[in-house]
Amino acid sequence: MEHLPEGLAGALLPWYDAHVRDLPWRRDPSPYRVWVSEIMLQQTRIEAVKGYFDRFMAALPTVRDLAAAPEETVLKLWEGLGYYSRARNLHKAAKVIVEKYGGELPADAGALRALPGVGDYTAGAVASIAFGLPEPAVDGNVLRICARLTCCPDSIGDAAVKTFFREDLRAQYPARRCGDFTSALMELGETVCLPGTPDCDACPLRDMCRANEAGAQTDFPVMPEKRPRKVQRRTVFILEYDGRAALVRRPDKGLLAGMWELPNVEGVLSEEEAMAQAEAWGCGPVSAAPCGEAVHIFTHLEWHMTGWRIQCAAAPERFAWTTPAQRADTYAVPAAFRVYKALL
Ligand code: SF4
Repeated sequence: MEHLPEGLAGALLPWYDAHVRDLPWRRDPSPYRVWVSEIMLQQTRIEAVKGYFDRFMAALPTVRDLAAAPEETVLKLWEGLGYYSRARNLHKAAKVIVEKYGGELPADAGALRALPGVGDYTAGAVASIAFGLPEPAVDGNVLRICARLTCCPDSIGDAAVKTFFREDLRAQYPARRCGDFTSALMELGETVCLPGTPDCDACPLRDMCRANEAGAQTDFPVMPEKRPRKVQRRTVFILEYDGRAALVRRPDKGLLAGMWELPNVEGVLSEEEAMAQAEAWGCGPVSAAPCGEAVHIFTHLEWHMTGWRIQCAAAPERFAWTTPAQRADTYAVPAAFRVYKALL
């Protein structure tokens, strides 16, 4: 692998000064705010995060507030943002920060990395942006820039490639403005060195970029081979009793752990089978009506769902029978059920 060209900070920082976007977490970049924003931004678009970030900060403005909040509250604030293990880990890490560090995030990349849900990327982002340390934060955007700058022939999915560029970038950190250097790389990846159509004419690194020189920008980065997603068919139930709808809590481990969901089973059930299932749950089903189909795509899995709305004559305790107000305030239901939740 080729080393990165020298002088990245010198070229990037003046460009960053002229192009920095005003984002909520860049105002008052305290360690807590930087940490929460970086966790929210993983796999999620900036535009989608903005509103969640502001609501989260208003409800839980300090690490201590987050540590003391019930998990239900944290999950409710995260509802719809996806990848809910991020929220649970954030909550766990806040408790560790209070118990071990007196409520202040540690100014050390190794100690940050030891917190639940914090990997190399987040540790680097918090250490450099919030504490001004020379710690790179290498995510997909930064890897794309590095791969193009060097025409890297290896897949950016290889751990060795990531480690190589992280250490190469570490050597380029300036004596001052470490956080701005990290943010500038992120900003370039998000606004200029885009995956499909990089705007090389507007890029401050164009004169040192080998892919630009060769006119081969879109040949890089070499991506890891994608595994096909598994398709799972499920039947979702809107069970209604006396103006309330049934929700059930998912197990504490695995996909969507600890979230509330509409009762559902694997497979596509006919009307007769759906009534029999509701009977087996003890709901005393009176009538069933189809309520449409929906698809939800997770990273490695697709749910193809069919829905049945069933009027019930009984409300067994295996379910929480919820009012609209309770669903709005208390129960966090993942976006996978959004089509059916809208029908409640
Ligand atoms: S010149 Fe083009 S390909 Fe190279 S880093 Fe800049 S935007 Fe990316």
